[in-house]
Amino acid sequence: MSPEKADALAAEVRDWLTSSGIVSAERKPCVLGGHLGFPPGPRADEVVDVSGWSLPWQDVWFNGLDVAAGRTVFDAGQGEPMAVTCPHCSVRIELVDENFALVHTAWDPFHEVVDGWREGRDVVIPCPACARPVEPASWIWADDHFAFGHLGFTFWNWPPLRPEFVAELTRRLAGHRVVLLEGKF
Ligand SMILES: [Zn+2]
Repeated sequence: MSPEKADALAAEVRDWLTSSGIVSAERKPCVLGGHLGFPPGPRADEVVDVSGWSLPWQDVWFNGLDVAAGRTVFDAGQGEPMAVTCPHCSVRIELVDENFALVHTAWDPFHEVVDGWREGRDVVIPCPACARPVEPASWIWADDHFAFGHLGFTFWNWPPLRPEFVAELTRRLAGHRVVLLEGKF
């Protein structure tokens, strides 16, 4: 996806979310990362499952939607990346030792892949098992530790999003590589 395309798609979805009252249009410092996000709107409650949540769930500092257009690495994992699997041969490459410390000989080439994506470079490395080249976004990360995307929506500290809402969001983004994460702080 080109940066222009990602920007246009981000704007389209943002307009839908603000006009339907799911988020407010007035941006505030309500997301992590030092930029501005969109606070929950009057209809935000309708798209989340608040069972088991103490109300009001919006009553925390980071409660907004962050829209990130452009190449992004979403780091969803806790601690170190444990393993990565080749999409061609399905061999799982362990990246940590028995003490969960990174094994640098295994990790270093993947570090390049991750940094490259962040910096706008496609670092294609051969699979250590089958030697076939693998596109950066094709590696399968254990526990979804990393997700490589062109456009990301992070709902900070929102209760679980209702499946119908996720389906509608996904429909609007159909055909594009999109990462949807529920941010926790
Ligand atoms: Zn392989």
